[in-house]
Formats: sequence, structure tokens, C-alpha cells
Amino acid sequence: MSFTKKDVEKILIELNSKEWVQNIQIFGNKLMIDAVSPSPALHDKKKLEDALINAFKDKLPEAEVQVKVTAKPKPSIQPIKGNPIKGIKNIVAIASGKGGVGKSTVTANMAISLHKMGFKVGILDADIYGPSMPVMFDVEDGKPRSIEKEGKSKMLPIESYGIKVLSIGFFAGLDQAVVWRGAMASKAIHQLIHDADWGDLDFLLIDLPPGTGDIHLSIVQEVPVTGAVIVSTPQTVALADARKGVSMFKMDAINVPVLGFVENMAYFTPEELPENKYYLFGQNGVKNLAEKMDIPFLGEIPIIQSIREASDVGRPAALQVNTIASAAYTEIAKNMVGSLAVRNKDLPPTEAVRITTMAGCSTK
Ligand code: ADP
Repeated sequence: MSFTKKDVEKILIELNSKEWVQNIQIFGNKLMIDAVSPSPALHDKKKLEDALINAFKDKLPEAEVQVKVTAKPKPSIQPIKGNPIKGIKNIVAIASGKGGVGKSTVTANMAISLHKMGFKVGILDADIYGPSMPVMFDVEDGKPRSIEKEGKSKMLPIESYGIKVLSIGFFAGLDQAVVWRGAMASKAIHQLIHDADWGDLDFLLIDLPPGTGDIHLSIVQEVPVTGAVIVSTPQTVALADARKGVSMFKMDAINVPVLGFVENMAYFTPEELPENKYYLFGQNGVKNLAEKMDIPFLGEIPIIQSIREASDVGRPAALQVNTIASAAYTEIAKNMVGSLAVRNKDLPPTEAVRITTMAGCSTK
């Protein structure tokens, strides 16, 4: 007695297994089924295979059944881990593999650019090895006040240029934070996020310490980080560390999407020779790495003396109007929001709604 594809589908529906079957082929009395297991574990795949074979033996004894089970590919984008923090729509971690590549400078200027675009922005300076936000935002003497809210004592971030800032440097002293390690630093950072009155924010940028250590692990595991931005110079040694940064965010235990790479110190142009570009750290290193790793490239920032000077006097360069520096930071901020919108589109609808309802960030 012969059987048809319809017969097989009917049996699969009875077995409640149709959704796991991707392909059915019939060759005479030979029935071949491709199925997809929701779990990659070998024993789960075997279980599904055996279940299908036994069921068909019973219900369609004339068929010689062959089942091939593969694991369902992991969705490229995972839902955000952890509970959302009330009022904060997106938490973006700014990371770098190597120290000194300009991660904090990018964080400060990206915050200003996002603010200029109309977003509400906060910065959490979690760089225990060198908290620099107090200097960059000219609030070195900042002492966050404590207020009572809903029966709890909350820290009030210090506001500068419209950005709400909390830095580990406000509490540990700019020279001492570096001695905070492991559990103590994680606890302090946890408090800065959860025990602060951030109000409503479209973006909370976290300036992470350089590298890929236990602090990173605890921050990204206990804070619902929406995505990460990785800053690097085009230099080979910096690129190798940037790659490590990407691997860290991709780890199963962390699983934070990388929104993009920023190439800092991309080239130098002397003021008197604006046409000349000198690629001191190599050319397009970060751009090429982004392409290779299939990660968005958010933009490049040249080496500009006024960027360093602006940071040192506590007035980030992105506050300038119509300069090469401010244009570069605006471009990067826009691309980061764009990358976030793409990420949000791939999220389950409830998750997407939670993080995309903000001005200028469309999921289309
Ligand atoms: P990180 O946070 O990665 O340690 P910083 O942001 O503190 O690095 O930057 C290191 C130094 O480089 C600072 O003195 C900063 O002002 C300077 N700097 C960063 N980016 C640029 C740039 N594009 N042009 C000139 N100087 C820069």
C-alpha cells in the first residue's frame, strides 16, 4: 500500500510534531524526514529522531522511515537579559579591548551627540582603572546628593551639559578607584545603576573598564544591556584586543549584541595641510575587521588636537558646532541608533516595543 505526503502530514499533526518537521520526501515506500530540534543537545536530537521513527512504525508500518534531525540555529539576536530598569530604555556598554584607545572620549562625545539629537542621556562611568568622566564633564568636585524616593534612599546623578553622570570617581577618588577590584567594584557599579535616580533616559551609556575581565562579566550579566559599542584604533595590537572584546560579548553567558565598531585615531591631518592624511596607526584596520566579523562599522574619528584639549578642559568636543570632530561624533551616534533599530526589529515584538519607543529610532 502506498502513502502520500498528505498522509504523513496528517500523522505529524496527530503527533503534534508538524512544527519540528522541515522537509518530507517520499521515494516509493521510503519516507525521508528532515526535522529540527529546538535543543542542540545530542540526546534531545536522538529523542526526537526515535520518537518520529517509532511513531511512523506504528502508524505507517509499510514505510521505511529515515529521519535526520538538526539543531535549530540560534537566533542571531537574543532578547535582552535581566529585568528592565524602570525609566531606562536602552543601556549601551562602550568597551575597548585595549586601554588608551579613546573609549571614554567616545562615550562622552557620543552622549553629547545623542543629547543634541534630542535624546535623554546618562553616563555611568564604570572605568575603575581610570574614571575620567568627572574631568571630561567638568564636575571633578561632584558629590551626588542622596534623596528619598518611594521610601528608598537614591543617589542623584550630577548633571552637566544636559547629561546625567555618575562616576565611580565621585566616590572612590580619582586615584583610588583602581584598587577596587572584583566583588567590591561590581557591588559599587551595581549600586550606581540600581540605587540611583536616573529618571527617564533614552540611553544610559556605560563606560566599561578596558579589557575583558570579571567586572565586565558581572556588569553585563546583571544589567539588561541592550548592546555594546567597541572602540579601537587601527593598530594591530589594539585590533587583536577588540576582537577579544567581541568574543566576550558573544559568549553564551553574556550574549550582548555588538552594535558596532568605532575607529578612533583613524588618521592625522595637520591644520596647515588639510588635504593630507597620515595613517599613524595603519589604515582602515577597524573598518576591515568590522567587515570580516560582520559587525556594523559606526564611523571613524581622526586624531584632532582639540578633541584632547576639549576633554582636558571639561568641555567635550561634540559640543562644538560645525567642526570635523563634532560631525564625526554625530555620524557615529546616528549610526549607533540605526544599528539599535535594526537590532530591535529582530527582537520579539514585546521586547522591541520596550526599547524602541523613542524619538527618531524606527524599527522600519
Ligand atoms: P580610554 O578610555 O580608551 O583609556 P581615553 O578616552 O581616555 O581612552 O583617551 C586617551 C587619550 O587620548 C586622552 O588623552 C584623550 O583626550 C585622547 N584622545 C582620544 N581620542 C582622541 C582623538 N580622536 N584625537 C586626539 N586625542 C584623542
